[in-house]
Order: sequence, then C-alpha cells, then structure tokens
Amino acid sequence: MTVRVRFAPSPTGQLHVGNVRTALHNWLFARQRGGVLIMRIEDTDVERSRREYETQMLDDLRWFGLDWDEGPDVGGDFGPYRQSDRLEIYEKFANRLLEGGLAYRCFCTEEALDIEREQAKVEDRPYKYSGRCKSLSEEEVEQKVKAGSPYALRFKVRSGKVLWEDIVRGCVEWHAEVIGDFVIVKSDGWPVYNFACVVDDILMQVTHVIRGDGHLPNTPRQLLIYEALGAQPPTFAHLSTILGSDGAKLSKRHGATSLGEFRERGYLPESLFNFLALLGWSPPEGHSELLAKDRLCALFSFDRISKAPAIFDVNKLNWMNRAYL
Ligand code: GLU
Repeated sequence: MTVRVRFAPSPTGQLHVGNVRTALHNWLFARQRGGVLIMRIEDTDVERSRREYETQMLDDLRWFGLDWDEGPDVGGDFGPYRQSDRLEIYEKFANRLLEGGLAYRCFCTEEALDIEREQAKVEDRPYKYSGRCKSLSEEEVEQKVKAGSPYALRFKVRSGKVLWEDIVRGCVEWHAEVIGDFVIVKSDGWPVYNFACVVDDILMQVTHVIRGDGHLPNTPRQLLIYEALGAQPPTFAHLSTILGSDGAKLSKRHGATSLGEFRERGYLPESLFNFLALLGWSPPEGHSELLAKDRLCALFSFDRISKAPAIFDVNKLNWMNRAYL
C-alpha cells in the first residue's frame, strides 16, 4: 500500500513552528516510505483565510526544505487541493448523510443556542447541543425550509464508545455521549473543518493522519463521520504539544514562533530543519543530534516519537545554527 499523508494548513496567518514540525514529520514519513505528501489548503474559515497567507506559507515551507507531490501549486489526480474549490463535493456528501438520516437540519438561531449554553453554565455542566431540531417532524422541516428559515446541518452522534489505536498515544477511547450533535455545514453553506477534512481525507486516499494533539478532541467526531459514510478511517498519529522552556505553550511571549520570523532572523533552513525534526522525536541511541536531511529521513520512526510535550529550547537551536554555519 502506498503511504499517502497530507499537511493541511489553514491560511489564516503565519505558519507556527508547531505546524512546521507537523509538516516535517509528515514529510519524513512520506519520503522514507516512498509515499506521497499532499498539500491541502483548509480555507473554509472565510473571514480569516487569505490567499497572501497561503502564498507565504508555501514559499516559507519550500525555503525550509520541504516539497510535496500534490497540492494547489503542483496539481495531482485528487484535486482541487484548496477546500474553497471543493464546495460542491462537500454538498454532495452532506446530502448523502441527510438523506440517510445521519444528519438533520437545525434551525436554531444563535440566540437560542446562547440560551442553551448559558443554561449549561448555570447548571455547571459541559455544554452539548440539546438535539431539539432532531425531533422536528418532516412537515415542520418542510414548512421552515419553504418559509426560507436558515438552517445548518448537524451530524447525528450515536451513543456508545469511539475508539482508535493511535500510533503515538496507543488506544484512545471517547464516550460519544459527551460530544453532542455537531454542525457539519453552516447556514451559509460552508462546511466546518471536521467534515471537510474527513471528506477530503477519504477522497484523497490518505492512509495516515499525522497532526498535533490539539486535534485529539476532533478525532472521535471525525471517526463518527467515517463510520456514517461507510469509509475506512486512516491511521492516526497525534504529535505532542510544543512548549517554551518555561513549560508554557509556545507563543509570541517566547519570541519568534513562526517560520517566517525565523527565516527573517537569518536562521539557516538546515539547522531549523534538524532542530524541529527533534521536537518530540529522537534518533536511536548512539546517534549525534546533528543530522542532515537524508539521515533524518533514514532514521525517522514512529516508535521514537514521544507522547510527552516537546520543549522548544532556543539555546539549542542557536547552538545548532552555529554548528551548521
Ligand atoms: N487545518 C487544520 C490545522 O491547521 C488541519 C488539521 C489536520 O491536520 O487535520 O490545524
């Protein structure tokens, strides 16, 4: 089986080094296995997505030393590779779920949902959609649609457990009950991330999803969608969070956090590449930490990826940069 992995950035700003590490681990895995790396642009957040950010991200990633086999700028057999160019595809899949009774139209207004959220707060319980619109009769739905009431599509979450065997985290288990029926297509017709991502991963024949562990809560939702669509889910690997040396999540407070900033500051792409490869992954015993691209590619393996948060130590990066100079 050919390994097919993807890197799926949202073009809403500069590329955070955490995402660059994700891209890099995907790249190492794909190249080592003679597989395919797909670049997919997830621009369904219309307000925040910009084409300039996409252009800069791709340019920075090339400077960094990555290449990809399929993507908006290189083409491929499974395109288009920008989600905003795939809206009819999502619509088709959403209709399939709707017709199969696996999704339903939700006419709740933002105000009505706010009241539900407030109520949950008052009762000191985690919020979950009440499922009110699930019990609308066919006639009621028809009437509302005819009257032009706006609606979102919600996924009907089944009860029971959702399990998966994560390459990094081992067996992960969620109770579907805590999830609540979630929106898959907003009232403006745009799909939400969890839905578009699954449709694309199915159609692009992705075999492994390697991404940051911030997405862990999304995975059970996505698995439920795979199940509803009768599709085989890929294998998941969730990479640990990157922390600053003070133990807090790496953010602006720690200085440069985006690939563009490191580039501007004059870091060598080779040293940054080596440094980021070692965030959350370590070479087998007896190897120096100074490893060029081809060595990293040969040595990379999932069993040396750590679940523990990785520490972004700028001093180590500076040391590596001097070593490469
Ligand atoms: N667009 C998502 C992000 O940038 C992709 C997550 C994923 O890899 O599924 O975080």
